[in-house]
Amino acid sequence: MKKFYIETFGCQMNVHDSEKVIGTLVTDGYKQVETFEEADLVLYNTCSIRDKAEQKVFNRLQNFKKAGKGKTFAVIGCVAQQEGEKIFEKAPHVSLVAGSASYGKLSQLLVQIEKGDKRVTGLTFDANEAFETPMTRRDNPHRAYITIIEGCDKNCAYCVVPFTRGPERSRTSESIIREAHEIVAMGYTEVQLLGQNVNSYRDPSPAGYNFAQILRAVAEVPGMRRVRFTTSHPRDFGKDIVDVIADNPVICNHVHLPVQSGSSRVLEGMLRSYTRDEYMRRIDWMKNCGQDIALTTDIIVGFPGETEADFEQTLSLLDEVEYDSVFSFKYSKRPNTPALSLDDHMDEDEKSRRLSILQEHQRQIQIRRNAGYVGRVEEVLVEGFNKATGQWIGRTGQNKTLNFLHHSGDENLTGTYLHARVTRSGPNSLTGESVVQ
Ligand code: SF4
Repeated sequence: MKKFYIETFGCQMNVHDSEKVIGTLVTDGYKQVETFEEADLVLYNTCSIRDKAEQKVFNRLQNFKKAGKGKTFAVIGCVAQQEGEKIFEKAPHVSLVAGSASYGKLSQLLVQIEKGDKRVTGLTFDANEAFETPMTRRDNPHRAYITIIEGCDKNCAYCVVPFTRGPERSRTSESIIREAHEIVAMGYTEVQLLGQNVNSYRDPSPAGYNFAQILRAVAEVPGMRRVRFTTSHPRDFGKDIVDVIADNPVICNHVHLPVQSGSSRVLEGMLRSYTRDEYMRRIDWMKNCGQDIALTTDIIVGFPGETEADFEQTLSLLDEVEYDSVFSFKYSKRPNTPALSLDDHMDEDEKSRRLSILQEHQRQIQIRRNAGYVGRVEEVLVEGFNKATGQWIGRTGQNKTLNFLHHSGDENLTGTYLHARVTRSGPNSLTGESVVQ
């Protein structure tokens, strides 16, 4: 039996793509192994969102060149799509280069290599439907992922995704709901719907579901206890989505809504197609919907032309929204992106200075926000046990980590739901003890 080893870089979409690639290979009779040395086939599922991510791949390939004699190397994912055949020049020991839109024909591509083809590619965006597999190997024992849409039709000035993942392709509502039932039958109670931009989901079948409708349909699957989704785009984030969240307790009270900047001038340069005010309207919908929705976001500092005043507007937006957490990054030049042609790119030191100011500013907000949870009783899904602290690791509906003590009995709580009272808080997590509810 042929053995394969896979390594995954990047976002949740890539992690779930790898779960599906593994499913395809296992269905084709391959066996997954945990080390590179044991494998006949070595796959790197790559990310190209930032410069560093790309370099990592080529360094890995270089490291393994010598030790990899007789093995088949495959570079898949976003760097594969972005660099294409150039990868064969940079790493001649690679035999397969395939983007995510070609995973549906991965089996045939591997057969071509077995027949002796030295250099095989899957780089076309002709897939008019999202990648579905007979079997998906699911790594996370507590949360299952369902990709509902692939690709992105937006054109944000800093982003490579439209070039690496192609145009939007939504799965049929029937196939998504079927997969949700299968996931519950496997014992899962929590699912996360995935897409570069889940809000622009449009069911290609006559049912014609939009995102709010598919979100409600998945939440109504018997046995489902928690439904999450990522990533949203403010332009497509409609009031109907907030209404569905407010109506249905199975849909978790957490929304990740990337803003990227607090300055409308910078948002225009980023081609984000919304202003600060339009973004804040969506935040107000959530703050006034009667549910306590936790808010998180993404922010890029140092976008070309960002002035000190623009940056101040980003800091003031943090104060106005009071996010539960923020993923913040320095702008990084990316191939094929519109921002490359912009002038006045900022030096790295200035970007680093702004990033650390922003992160400390946000840390103070999180300290304040989490302090407000002390005394509250939260329902958690127990995800594990921390031997070092003797605490169980729980995750709240709002996607907060709550580490807690459980006094009675030593049964394994992992995968169960229980309630815990918050006794202490920090910038990134809560601490407490279990209570009988
Ligand atoms: S919405 Fe913008 S940032 Fe998000 S994947 Fe699409 S192009 Fe990239």
